[in-house]
Amino acid sequence: MPEITVVKVESVADDGGQPGRMVHIERPKDWAACPDCRVISTTVRQRRTTRPRDLPYGPEPLAVRWHKRQFACAEQRCARKAFTESTAEIPPRARVTGRLCRAVARQAASGRSIAAVGRECGLGWPLVHRHFAVHADALLIEPEPPRVRGIDETRRGRPQWIKNEATGRWARTELFETNFGDLSGTGGLLSQAAGRTSKAVVDWLNTRGHAWKSQVRIVAIDPAACYRTAIRQALPHAVIVVDHFHLVALAGKALTAVRQRITREQRGRRGRATDPEWANRRLLLACAREQAPRSVISHRLHRFLSWCADSGLSELLTLAETIDAWWPETLAFITNARTEETNRLIKDAARVAFDFHNLHNQRRRVRVACTHHTINVPAA
Ligand SMILES: [Zn+2]
Repeated sequence: MPEITVVKVESVADDGGQPGRMVHIERPKDWAACPDCRVISTTVRQRRTTRPRDLPYGPEPLAVRWHKRQFACAEQRCARKAFTESTAEIPPRARVTGRLCRAVARQAASGRSIAAVGRECGLGWPLVHRHFAVHADALLIEPEPPRVRGIDETRRGRPQWIKNEATGRWARTELFETNFGDLSGTGGLLSQAAGRTSKAVVDWLNTRGHAWKSQVRIVAIDPAACYRTAIRQALPHAVIVVDHFHLVALAGKALTAVRQRITREQRGRRGRATDPEWANRRLLLACAREQAPRSVISHRLHRFLSWCADSGLSELLTLAETIDAWWPETLAFITNARTEETNRLIKDAARVAFDFHNLHNQRRRVRVACTHHTINVPAA
């Protein structure tokens, strides 16, 4: 550590008899400059020992004892009568060394939970979080406007009900976050906004300004009508695309609904593992991905929609209507793989960040998890 020398290292045992080491450190200079008047003093008034926490080193626990001096200020016109020496790595009143702060911030930013990092280094949750927040805010600079953007949602935790004391009514807290991602560049996840509404999306986009919005060419969304409405309103020039995966998932759900309803109607009970339609349900849900020319796709779509319509099954009619309603966007789909990847990262980050009750904190954490791979992290 700069400006510090090790005086001696002792072998010690803690209360439980576990071996450890105690490192005694000092500042070797016999003078220090007053922080107020910058006048140098060599007059030591008293000595104190502090216990700053430092990085772990080796298998045994390590304790630091800093033998500090308090100097008298020699400048007569200085209001300060005394000051205690400090260094850049161990500033005044710091209980943790700078290098330990940076190490915990990096660990938390790499996706580990704040609580786990704190336990390992013997630091409290608020302290680790404060250093993580400083580190994260430095990384999360306002992104460039992306050419291709993605919008989707992530559900946060379990539903919570909060009572409004004034009206006595219970309200469900917002569960969904809308995520704005950059699919073309290296921005990763750009931002998040509370709620799953057109207004949340329109407001966020309008805040970015006209020049920013005009550069967005393609927007990838989940098949949610509110997102489509918002994009058409705020980015009328942009092409909306929807991953065909969503329509395949809807078809799977419709098939399950038909199977369950027919089983109830014909057998008068729920499906059992021995029923052939239950045993083969995975076969029914299987769907192969293949690259087909546009004319073949269009022909198959027409055949599929007609087949649904002719089946007379209400579940398949609903499915056909939904697919029809989202077909232009699905056909325009280029690749939504990266938003899905981002979405998965968000879910991972939300899991380890379960100890976050503050929405701003959670968003910061999620954005770091989704962005830090593509941004140069400054060295410690
Ligand atoms: Zn002074």
